[in-house]
Amino acid sequence: MTNKKSFFGYTGCWAFVDLSSGKIELKEADPEIYRLYLGGRGVQAHLIYQHLKKIGWLKDPFSPSNRIIIGNSSLNDTTIPTAGRGSCSFISPMTYSPQRQPWLGNRPPVFGLLTHSSCGGLFANMLKRAGIDQLVIDGRADKPVRILVNEGKVEILEAEPELFEEKDGKKVLRRTSEITDFLTRKHPGSSTVCTGPAGWNQVAFACLTADYHRNFGRGGAGAVFGSKNLIAITAYGRKLPAYYDRARFLETAKQIDEAVKGHVHDPNWTASFRPETGTTWWLDRAFNGGYLGKVGGYLPWHNFDEGYFDPELYKKVSTGAFLEIAGKHKVCNRCRHILCTRTASVKECPYAHESVRPEFETIALWINCCLTDREAIFYLNHLCNEYGVDTMTLGSVMAGVMELQEKGFLKSKAAPVFGDPGSMIRALEQIIYGTTDLGCLLAKPTDLVIAELLASLSGAGPEEVVRCLTTAYAGLGYAGIEPKVFPGMFTAYGTSNRGRGDHTYAWTIQAEESGLTGAENLAAYVAGSQVGKALTDSLGLCDFFTEDFTSPTFLEMYRALTGFEYTAESFKECGRRIYALERYVNNQQGRKRDYDAFIPPKFLEPLTAGPQAGKAVDPILYNAILDAYYQNQKWTMDGLVPETLLGEYGIQE
Ligand code: SF4
Repeated sequence: MTNKKSFFGYTGCWAFVDLSSGKIELKEADPEIYRLYLGGRGVQAHLIYQHLKKIGWLKDPFSPSNRIIIGNSSLNDTTIPTAGRGSCSFISPMTYSPQRQPWLGNRPPVFGLLTHSSCGGLFANMLKRAGIDQLVIDGRADKPVRILVNEGKVEILEAEPELFEEKDGKKVLRRTSEITDFLTRKHPGSSTVCTGPAGWNQVAFACLTADYHRNFGRGGAGAVFGSKNLIAITAYGRKLPAYYDRARFLETAKQIDEAVKGHVHDPNWTASFRPETGTTWWLDRAFNGGYLGKVGGYLPWHNFDEGYFDPELYKKVSTGAFLEIAGKHKVCNRCRHILCTRTASVKECPYAHESVRPEFETIALWINCCLTDREAIFYLNHLCNEYGVDTMTLGSVMAGVMELQEKGFLKSKAAPVFGDPGSMIRALEQIIYGTTDLGCLLAKPTDLVIAELLASLSGAGPEEVVRCLTTAYAGLGYAGIEPKVFPGMFTAYGTSNRGRGDHTYAWTIQAEESGLTGAENLAAYVAGSQVGKALTDSLGLCDFFTEDFTSPTFLEMYRALTGFEYTAESFKECGRRIYALERYVNNQQGRKRDYDAFIPPKFLEPLTAGPQAGKAVDPILYNAILDAYYQNQKWTMDGLVPETLLGEYGIQE
């Protein structure tokens, strides 16, 4: 079945697993779909679109009908640097706001957005070696199960009792490292992706953890696993990809490899900082301009009220502070040269342990909770990996609740407090295990939280609650760049297909710091970035890969691998097709301009401290950028993808 002429670079196999019926089907993939959508994120968007078109648009992300797909791409497991990223696609529980609410201006409901998460480590490459491109999971098992993919054979297995433990008289799932240890002992040489206690408890922002510390982080993939009674997927195989023209591939791949290596050794490229500081170099840049002498003042503080705070406190959590605890590299499979991940350890303190250094976004969003205890941030990051929870959304939700607590609106004594790591760890455990009313509440998507809070808060009205909770109206949670400072980045946050607040689908900071302004320019930059990211995710590469996908060498390498020929323009069109298809699905799920245009109220209040004091989101400018953005994307002014555009992009009915 595999390695036919049409499947060079791919295994050519899609595995469909129905957990409700126990049926497993291995199907030959459609090469035309690979040509149109490349792999990973793109192919998976197509498979979810086809599914929802057939069964009806999803009204509940926790329903068994929520298809979740984990897969890889043609470049995975090749010698191209960073070719180890896997894809997970599903309708996100975190972006769920099922009713019109007066406090959201009666905006239309959003029933969960089509979301894609990318994850490094080994899992995606191992799934490919096991002979599967996409593992498509439907239904819900009637008892806890796990999936084993072993050398092309796919099985649903009953979950072993050892995967559970008892906590306060309740049966709960073990931590992700314990699950991974157990399954690795059972299947030597394999790789595992699993949900943890957070996903088992269906926390709306639970993630999936692969190979101990890599995550399909955002959107709630772990909760979807939990809702399906699915604990883990373990993969093992030894198959290598076939090449259309191996000699030519090796020749062009070597040129690409050398170019990336050159960028890592060139101080003008941000890639040159990654082997040492990873993403944490953004801390210095966001706070004080960092090594390039730019203007900082956009590291969020006190639930996004400010972008600047006491520099003496900052020193404790700076790029240098996290460099002091860094150890050796611990990178994704097939990562070469860029090597952004390092171990870290702290000793002789209440948080003494060894794991991996947290990423910039995680640290920034814990600083946003006024936490300036490096050891505690490091430990919280470790706990999030162990419990299987997205550090970013958790940080945003936690900061919002802290503000409600600070203002005296919350009755619960269990509420976390700004700057207090102990209260944050306790609140995290309440959320993960649902041990208090507050913990159970905060595990839900934010608009359900607001509805329930309003019935119980003392003194607070809807405006105060929405002001504190920046994830309101089906938001994913804003990332670690203060949203008030860069209008382009605010547009990237507002229009990301996977939900408001996401920073990975477009990134504008360097361009805006270099002088990019004007509604049309900013809109074009964001739309172009989103197309580039759709390509990155669909190729199985990392965001930090430095080569241009549309260069003659890259396209020749891709032809030599897959046999597919593209021009620069037709390759870019794949990215535009993927972005439009995702948006079309999201339109059916309820997303329109109302969603993109929503500005969390506190972002209208100017910063008062630091070099960006006075900055706030300008609603007039933002609306002008949105107009230009929709025009650029060829969508309607209401943010809808017209059917004619689907035809123009060759999106199949
Ligand atoms: S640069 Fe970092 S995230 Fe990207 S592939 Fe390498 S180790 Fe993984």
